[in-house]
Amino acid sequence: MSTRLTRLEEEGVIKRTPYQDRPVRYDYRLTEKGKDLFPVILSLRGWGNEWCGLKTSQKPAVRMVHTGCGGEVGADPTCTTCGERLIPKNVSSSFSKLFARERTHRNTSFGLEKRVRNNSN
Ligand SMILES: [Zn+2]
Repeated sequence: MSTRLTRLEEEGVIKRTPYQDRPVRYDYRLTEKGKDLFPVILSLRGWGNEWCGLKTSQKPAVRMVHTGCGGEVGADPTCTTCGERLIPKNVSSSFSKLFARERTHRNTSFGLEKRVRNNSN
């Protein structure tokens, strides 16, 4: 994961900023270049939900909602409910219960500290 973050930082997709001194910990934020990837991410997410084993009766691992109107976010770069352009800042995400349990289990297994952050911008 560290290698991927370093690569994304080197490519100018994310910017690393310290948020704690002892021990030094970093927060990763999208740059303007990274924010422009958002429609691509939505499209890939939609493709994955359609073609990678998600049954129509299942909830996606991550539910995304347009904060402007509460509409569900799909693969489109605009909200299908109100037509507004979707950007990271106006979309909120939440994990399904199953995915949240899986993440907790994985973090516990690897001894990782659980860290929930708001990535709204
Ligand atoms: Zn909307």
